[in-house]
Amino acid sequence: MTAQLIDGNALSRQLRTEVATQCAQLKARGITPGLAVVLVGDNPASQVYVRNKVKACAEAGLHSVLENYDATLSEAALLARVEALNRDPQIHGILVQLPLPAHIDAQKIIEAIAPAKDVDGFHVASAGALMTGMPGFWPCTPFGCMKMLESIGYSLKGKHAVVIGRSNIVGKPMALMLLAQSATVTICHSATADLKAMTLQADVIVAAVGKRNVLTADMVKPGAVVIDVGMNRDTQGKLCGDVDFEGVRQVANYITPVPGGVGPMTITMLLVNTLAAAQASI
Ligand code: NAP
Repeated sequence: MTAQLIDGNALSRQLRTEVATQCAQLKARGITPGLAVVLVGDNPASQVYVRNKVKACAEAGLHSVLENYDATLSEAALLARVEALNRDPQIHGILVQLPLPAHIDAQKIIEAIAPAKDVDGFHVASAGALMTGMPGFWPCTPFGCMKMLESIGYSLKGKHAVVIGRSNIVGKPMALMLLAQSATVTICHSATADLKAMTLQADVIVAAVGKRNVLTADMVKPGAVVIDVGMNRDTQGKLCGDVDFEGVRQVANYITPVPGGVGPMTITMLLVNTLAAAQASI
């Protein structure tokens, strides 16, 4: 068996076209969805991420501003900027790129973002809304994974989903989203005693670890759906995921590639959330 690819680039193109259409409709009513992206310091990876986010906004017709501050910016000054953006009527979504310099308390900054503008979905109010099934912004990466499952018409009801990783931005919200669709969910992490025993039971596996080859073919039940969130570099410096793609694709029914899988979907869901924030502001 060779797994079918879930193509994150193709799905992103489709969803971004829908965002662009709805954005044009809002603009006709005098509202341009606006995203503020705040970067502190000059982390090269963060610079690439923020540039891609701003570019994606422009392509879909959203307004965006990129505020890039020196790494020495104080926590108080950053809080003041976030508060100003909270009050800015042209800005519907605020994204503070992580990681922040060590002298800034990232959680304090996230909690300063108005929940109505928390398009990254990291605010405790957004996390609480997801947990309780209330309306709120879902973190973009797991939200994108859910869209990928939806794109193949996969019904999660009664299925066993195993999430590898328990971070606040990927693993935990992912598990809650799968649970909300009536999957039976197991969350694995670095202290899981026998990861293979868990993954072999899974109909759906989401790998969100940040280590190459965490999931190999012998750990996957034939016919499973495998979503690879990881972003790593192989020995040649090429981008790769957490999953041994060549091996696992021989066993799984569906698999997401890296690159071209979850990565583009994350930015797409940021656009979706920013559009929703603008629509909700009317
Ligand atoms: P993180 O905060 O470092 O969390 C990693 C998780 O993996 C932790 O819960 C950790 O367990 C677990 N883990 C570590 N080693 C493990 C092992 N050997 N077996 C099982 N679990 C293990 O990372 P993250 O922010 O969630 O990101 C995870 C990966 O996704 C990274 O590669 C990141 O770059 C990527 N990512 C991609 C996108 C995208 O758009 N494609 C977006 C976000 C993140 P403990 O909790 O016990 O330490």
